[in-house]
Amino acid sequence: MIRVGVNGYGTIGKRVADAVAAQSDMELVGVTKTSPDYGAETAVRRGYDLYAATGDRPAAFADAGFEIAGSLGDLLDVVDVVVDCAPAGIGERNRPTYEAHDTPAIYQGGEDGDIADASFNARASEPLCDRDDLESLRVVSCNTTGLSRLLAPLDETYGVEKARVTLVRRGGDPSETDRGPINDVVPDPATVPSHHGPDVNTILPSVDVDTAALRAPVTGMHTHSVNVTLEAAPDTAAVRDLLRGESRLFLIPERAGLDGAGALKDYAADIGRGRGDLWENCIWEESISVEGRDLYLFQNVHQEADVVPENVDAIRELASDASREESMARTDEALGVGLDSLLSGQGPSPDQIVADD
Ligand code: NAD
Repeated sequence: MIRVGVNGYGTIGKRVADAVAAQSDMELVGVTKTSPDYGAETAVRRGYDLYAATGDRPAAFADAGFEIAGSLGDLLDVVDVVVDCAPAGIGERNRPTYEAHDTPAIYQGGEDGDIADASFNARASEPLCDRDDLESLRVVSCNTTGLSRLLAPLDETYGVEKARVTLVRRGGDPSETDRGPINDVVPDPATVPSHHGPDVNTILPSVDVDTAALRAPVTGMHTHSVNVTLEAAPDTAAVRDLLRGESRLFLIPERAGLDGAGALKDYAADIGRGRGDLWENCIWEESISVEGRDLYLFQNVHQEADVVPENVDAIRELASDASREESMARTDEALGVGLDSLLSGQGPSPDQIVADD
């Protein structure tokens, strides 16, 4: 059993905790909280031991009626791996504590690339030759995860000459009441190319990719408009088949009526996904088209969820000798990753909708 602690129980941490608890080869020892709020209640209701993330507030937990199992240091002393899910930049501050306790750590994409021994995506990262000596990994951001999963099979099969991606990013997560914009679409960063392309290169160093990013007043998912110039000129059907064969890519069938993030999240909740989570890239099947060597498609990425299976695989990468393929299969089976709509590949498509704007 791999004993795991989660430091930071917010948007990503609570999902990683649930995903770890669902793995038969892992034990979730506990999660940390900075304050005794509804997140602490959620952890307790799910049966997770609570640890105090910082040393200055144990009395606040006691006052709120929460029993604390110990400090972050206590947690670090009894786990094989800690998954840092603190806000962006705080992982860097937590790193000396993990190192002092000699606890291998996984960081998130909000940290700089050099925080860890390597950046990680289970499908796309190159094999790490010094795996036995690994002390840390950084699971790349939600956008980088979504792009890496897509570009890896394309590069392996056809060769990527150049990828150009426009990312329309959600303004904030649903629980982030202080984020925005609320009535605008904002270039962010306004400089082009954006930092997302270089982040993809921490996973796929040889893929030429330029990105431009905007922020939009939505909370559900990021949307990517993708153009990849391939080295070969496959037909559209072949590319659709290739992408359909990837367990963490979901090709949205045209006849499902899933026209945006709202419908996708609704669908996920309806089919029983906890929190309406979509761990897979969601690619509109009819958007996948090849013109000469140019591939075009639209995909949506659920920013709160797509990195979660990658964190589980990163834990195995650090603390076991399971291969990537074994780990991904195990993670996918335990969580139920791999959407397969009953409406995929059957029957006639609805008529083309005419653009009116
Ligand atoms: P969040 O703010 O939702 O959760 C962070 C949690 O950590 C909060 O509960 C906060 O109280 C707690 N915390 C604060 N200081 C802490 C400390 N010193 N030690 C331990 N915990 C502390 O943030 P998030 O969205 O879950 O992001 C976590 C990381 O994941 C960031 O690096 C972020 O960039 C990355 N990430 C976020 C998303 C997303 O869309 N939310 C997607 C992919 C990656």
